[in-house]
Amino acid sequence: MLDYSKMMQISTPEQDTIAAIATPIGEASIAVIRISGKSSLQIVARLFKRSNEASVFEMKSHKLYRGKVVDPKSERILDSVLTVIMKSPHSYTGEDVAEIHCHGGYLLSKKILELLFQHGARPASPGEFTFRAFLNGKMDLAQAEAVADVINAQTEESLKQAELQLEGILSQKIEEFKEIVLDTLAEVEAQVDFPEEDIDPILREAITKSTEELMEQIDRLLATYEEGRIIKQGVYTAILGKPNVGKSSLLNQLLMKERSIVSHLPGTTRDFIEETLDIKGIPLRLVDTAGLRATADEVEKAGVDLARKKAKEAELIIAVVDGSSNLDEDDFEVLRSSESRNSILAINKSDLHQNVSEEDISDFFQRERVVNTSAKLGSGIEELKSKIHEVLLGKDSLIEGAEVVLTELRHKLALQKTKDSLNSLIKAIDNRESPEFIAVDLRLALDSLGEITGETTTEDVLGRIFSKFCIGK
Ligand code: GDP
Repeated sequence: MLDYSKMMQISTPEQDTIAAIATPIGEASIAVIRISGKSSLQIVARLFKRSNEASVFEMKSHKLYRGKVVDPKSERILDSVLTVIMKSPHSYTGEDVAEIHCHGGYLLSKKILELLFQHGARPASPGEFTFRAFLNGKMDLAQAEAVADVINAQTEESLKQAELQLEGILSQKIEEFKEIVLDTLAEVEAQVDFPEEDIDPILREAITKSTEELMEQIDRLLATYEEGRIIKQGVYTAILGKPNVGKSSLLNQLLMKERSIVSHLPGTTRDFIEETLDIKGIPLRLVDTAGLRATADEVEKAGVDLARKKAKEAELIIAVVDGSSNLDEDDFEVLRSSESRNSILAINKSDLHQNVSEEDISDFFQRERVVNTSAKLGSGIEELKSKIHEVLLGKDSLIEGAEVVLTELRHKLALQKTKDSLNSLIKAIDNRESPEFIAVDLRLALDSLGEITGETTTEDVLGRIFSKFCIGK
């Protein structure tokens, strides 16, 4: 991992200049090479030549200019490009930034990047542009995390939440919480001069009241985490059922594309196919597991064992049986392993004569968790999707009306720590402890809130966050 602590020690204006290809490597119509740091403009000026010989330094900020990238040593023209400079502090990183838009392609963009390195830039580490934006106060830590969430978002809903966080909606809420704590701290500190006395009873009551209200607000925010996490990370889901009940066909129906192999021979889905599906905003990470059944075949047995293991790890199980044939011991094993889990039963092949009755399954599944489907005709699929949504988020979604949604475990833990300090503060007030003690709890609460926005975040946490970014972001 990168040594972010070292990077933090370097004061920002002195920072060296970094460069990276910001677009995916490979064949594409264009590629963007990004450079940031105090020497960006000088470095670009050595390579970027405009027809009228006007210098890069005369270019207006935030305006695209046409020109050529020329290797100064060989005087070889590498490409016709568009270049934009964004002068400090009005750039993503807050430093002087330039972007060269060249023709796409692995070799060309690499060559231009190499030239930038030869002329004084160094390769950017993952997330280093965003890290600089954070250091230069262009965004706080919660917003920087949202940059990665926007890039990784897989459903409309997860993208919406990431964008709101990037806009600063969570940071704003945390600032409001901090204001309340700071106001209380100011009042308590005014009493520190009289350490012998405990806090004035009226003030004591006021602090208890405002602290309890703050804790209620924090609880409301914490309550959105479970849904927020599901929306952001998705739900690992296993489709379970013995061979030939129609698991692959059902997966295909859910995906609306033919990706998984559908076969007439029992036991052919030996491998796993993982796909992400957007179920009304929830990214469902679906695994089509090998058919669960007792078998003597070694390869198939390995598949079945893996299916059992995957099913244990899954947060949601879609159990499938063939409604046209009588349930056997293999089906019952599937039903048993789905019991007492987040699960839904699809009684498939509803287009054929049905042999599975409600009584057959009532010991394992409540009626509202059962759907009749026909993967062949595509019927029951919408109902299955609605049930998945309902099982995961409940009938009344908390986040629909919520102003701010918590999506990150790190934020949840920091808020819980804040609450612990506030609880301890209320106890201290009840016990008539001296103002100094009370002030300690308030400062701890402030620190935990500051972890979310990055004021009090430790370097290893920063390292962990930014090293997950891609290079060039
Ligand atoms: P898997 O082994 O559980 O993945 O089952 P497949 O999806 O490979 O399906 C096994 C066989 O059942 C195939 O011949 C499918 O065409 C057929 N099948 C799947 N779903 C249905 C259904 O809803 N109705 C009917 N009639 N046949 C189906």
